[in-house]
Amino acid sequence: MEMVLTTLPYCGNIFSEQTGEFLGKEGNDMKDQNCGYCMGGEILAGFGIKICDLQVSQLILFKEQSHPGRVIVAYKDHVSELVDISPADRAAFFEDVARAAAAIHKAFHPDKVNYGAYGDGGCHLHFHIVPKYKDAFEWGTPFAMNPGKVYLSDTEYAEMIQKIKDNL
Ligand SMILES: [Zn+2]
Repeated sequence: MEMVLTTLPYCGNIFSEQTGEFLGKEGNDMKDQNCGYCMGGEILAGFGIKICDLQVSQLILFKEQSHPGRVIVAYKDHVSELVDISPADRAAFFEDVARAAAAIHKAFHPDKVNYGAYGDGGCHLHFHIVPKYKDAFEWGTPFAMNPGKVYLSDTEYAEMIQKIKDNL
């Protein structure tokens, strides 16, 4: 009998109906036209500024800076899950996350760095790297996705980006 596949309507993941095993992505689309990480441009500019490429990802400054030094490490392709990429790519991705976090530690000296990978609404694998400062905003609690409070001038963003690059 022919194996019957079920495609989840979300994120294009295809699983075996019998075993639940992940079989791959629907189609070969590694880019999504509505995704800021894939397309850059205006969609990305709505929340971030690209700093540079890393091994298998791009490093992005998060425009909302309630937590000074907050960045995003977004995987190079439009894949949803850590389990959807090869072990080698996953290892490289975690090296990128660690490299970005090390730069944030060196540049901004936070008391703790928080890591968040959510993406319910985006389907593009990415980590929020959020520096936390003792007794400052949201210390001791999970960070809000976008507090919408602190935005910088273009000059201040440029200075912050330079500081991060200098410490990568
Ligand atoms: Zn994407």
